[in-house]
Amino acid sequence: MATMTASIISGKEIGQQVYADLQKEISALRDRGINPGLAVVLVGEDPASQVYVGQKEKKCNELGILSKKILKPDTISEADLLALVDELNADDEVHGVLVQLPLPDHISETKIMAAVSPNKDVDGTHPVNLGMLMMGMGDLWPCTPAGVIEMLDRTGVEIAGKNAVVVGRSNTVGKPCALMLLHRHATVTVCHSKTADLAGVCRSADILVAAVGRAKMITGDMIKPGAVVIDVGINRGEDGKLVGDVDFDAASQVAAAISPVPGGVGPMTIAMLMSNTVAAAKAATA
Ligand code: NDP
Repeated sequence: MATMTASIISGKEIGQQVYADLQKEISALRDRGINPGLAVVLVGEDPASQVYVGQKEKKCNELGILSKKILKPDTISEADLLALVDELNADDEVHGVLVQLPLPDHISETKIMAAVSPNKDVDGTHPVNLGMLMMGMGDLWPCTPAGVIEMLDRTGVEIAGKNAVVVGRSNTVGKPCALMLLHRHATVTVCHSKTADLAGVCRSADILVAAVGRAKMITGDMIKPGAVVIDVGINRGEDGKLVGDVDFDAASQVAAAISPVPGGVGPMTIAMLMSNTVAAAKAATA
């Protein structure tokens, strides 16, 4: 095995660079009398969702983005939630609307996501925005994969012409990430649970993105020496600590650069949500 030790692609640090740039854009908007605003709707009391919503609110406050947190009991009807989304769609103070998932079983997540105005869909999950992404157009692309691309760009990783392998094909992470890499002229392979010879395919990757949700399933021998590895996975290890989909210690002996968990893609997801909110505010007031 090569004795290379990978450099760390820190989402925490890169996120700070994104925030520094956003701060300038927010000041410019303020100069024009525009205050970017984000509404986050939380239904029920899921502890993880409460943490995520709290993180988003805190970041809005730090950046000077107006934050509207709307809490609803998990007994809310689908019709009432749809009516709330309509109200936020019509609210001029709000440029971004995010309904935190998961929703209770009696509410269709697809229906709610489709009800958010595409112009305020800062999560980038509305079918219109996903269609725009397919065409390489529009401003509002899904936050987590957009964060992956931002990490590669700000690390100076050349994407064009490279073999990129994305492990995972979800609508929120794997598929949009593959499309974004394709738009940037990578040669992209998407893997999933039925992929034959996953290890072999991964070893062909100059850029490997893991978005599976299985702790340490990407082992050191699945990585091409000198590859760039971005680990999207968030899993709880047996000791209760957060671990990624990649065996970080083994992989960092082989890869040229690797993102850690925690401190990798996670902070970038929130940074891209803020970036999308500012983009939505700009587009709404152009
Ligand atoms: P999903 O469960 O929706 O998708 C997982 C994908 O992994 C599926 O496409 C599945 O294949 C594939 N898969 C499962 N097992 C294997 C296997 N043995 N070999 C190859 N592929 C496999 O997950 P998400 O995309 O929503 O999330 C992926 C990970 O990213 C999770 O750990 C999640 O917590 C994390 N995440 C992190 C975020 C962040 O901010 N850092 C944000 C969002 C997610 P198939 O389609 O065939 O079932």
